[in-house]
Amino acid sequence: MSQKSLKPGNSFTPDRCWVGESQKISYKTREEAELAARCAEYDHHLPSKLKVYKCDYGDHYHLTSA
Ligand SMILES: [Zn+2]
Repeated sequence: MSQKSLKPGNSFTPDRCWVGESQKISYKTREEAELAARCAEYDHHLPSKLKVYKCDYGDHYHLTSA
């Protein structure tokens, strides 16, 4: 999706987050991240190896394959 909905005056909540040198998609809840992980695995025919973890820098979650 390329549409942007930046609203002046509202605090902008990024759905991405810089972790080290890479920008990662962030998820508001663990459930949302788990769902995204399962979808990604299905789409790419991957084994279940994506893990959800709580971000160190914000109140959200990321996926990692490490
Ligand atoms: Zn983060």
